[in-house]
Amino acid sequence: MIDAASGLTLTSPEGTRYLFDPGALCLEFLTTGGPGALARYDVLHRPGDLADWLALSRLRLDPARVEVTADELAAARRLRDALWRLVCVRTAARPPAADPADFDATPDDLATLNRLAAGAPLAPQLTADGTRRWALPARGGQALATIARDAVDLFTGPHRDRVRECATHDCYLVFVDTSRPGRRRWCAMERCGNRHKVRSLRARRAAD
Ligand SMILES: [Zn+2]
Repeated sequence: MIDAASGLTLTSPEGTRYLFDPGALCLEFLTTGGPGALARYDVLHRPGDLADWLALSRLRLDPARVEVTADELAAARRLRDALWRLVCVRTAARPPAADPADFDATPDDLATLNRLAAGAPLAPQLTADGTRRWALPARGGQALATIARDAVDLFTGPHRDRVRECATHDCYLVFVDTSRPGRRRWCAMERCGNRHKVRSLRARRAAD
């Protein structure tokens, strides 16, 4: 899995900002929107939107040096929606949708994932100070190949059974639990973990 400086800064419906680290690049990509009711969270409208998101993702690409075409943007949205359905097979989660079939994985989803994984990915580089970075300039399609390969690695790797949806009933964020004990329940402690603590405290006080 692509593991660099990780975590996305998200904003809750109440306007608080928190860090969400889903543990894998391909799961970060699910925060850009999705099928069904998730379509209203879509942030990929113009080609430049993909470059901007890649800068926020754990790839941390300079958006000025990533060129994205309209075709690559369309491919990004197809990959993202396919990934959602392939993830739902693994989590048994069902985000809200007018038609529940919006989240049914089809053979087309595998074909979409595998076609993009077959493309040339971003090239890693070793810098003089011993750190790693991605070779730039790059094309949007290379980033999509990297995301698709990350998904193949995740779904076949040691943590393939640890892909989960956040335990809060109205939170649809998906993460991979890479902790040793394997008991991660929340998207982020500072978000759903705290909401859960507050709710349990209130329930205990009400019971007393
Ligand atoms: Zn959550």
